[in-house]
Amino acid sequence: MLKLGEKGAILQRDKETYAVAPHIPCGLVTPELLRRIADVAEKYEAHAVKITGATRIAIVGLKEEDIDAVWEELGLAKGAAVGLCVRSVRACPGTRFCKLGKQDAIGIGLQLDERYHGMELPGKFKMAVSGCNLNCAESFVRDLGLVGKKDGWTVLVGGNVGPQPRIARELTGGLDDAGVLAATEKIIEAYRESANKGERLGKMIERLGLEPLQAALAS
Ligand code: SF4
Repeated sequence: MLKLGEKGAILQRDKETYAVAPHIPCGLVTPELLRRIADVAEKYEAHAVKITGATRIAIVGLKEEDIDAVWEELGLAKGAAVGLCVRSVRACPGTRFCKLGKQDAIGIGLQLDERYHGMELPGKFKMAVSGCNLNCAESFVRDLGLVGKKDGWTVLVGGNVGPQPRIARELTGGLDDAGVLAATEKIIEAYRESANKGERLGKMIERLGLEPLQAALAS
């Protein structure tokens, strides 16, 4: 029997079958990709195809002996679904598609995903990018949340869901795309340097305040 996370497969409740959840940056798919996922699910007699809270598509109920072939035929990277690392970035449609958008949430989300997805950090690290104040991507309950406003990006830090939910606090604002990417890099480095193992950013902020992050931004 495979161990949790090995081969990108997650043991299911029946203790016999596995789910795989390929990496789908910002949840953007094409008709061709949907067909490929559907074909694989059908061929290997998956029990279910489930859209996850992290906007990925999990193929559930696969046999252990089929896992390698499933990945091969999907031709997609394995999603970082477990462990202490940067998880899938959630992004709303923003100015690409939404009439209320103030900033390009998908554009920044894809860049964050490209740079950080799967990166090992002291704790689980989730990011969300919302194109306006309505916060459809739930930026206030992510370790790092961005909100698009008329004057640029507002950066929120320290939010999370889970057994001890936290609402993120505003760290800075008025940043353009380049500025928000630079700020993200500094925040992640400060977190890497100051957090204890297993400590979410919100818990680190409870312990140390915002100072380490403010100092990193000012450097
Ligand atoms: S957060 Fe704003 S821009 Fe994004 S989908 Fe919601 S309303 Fe549209």
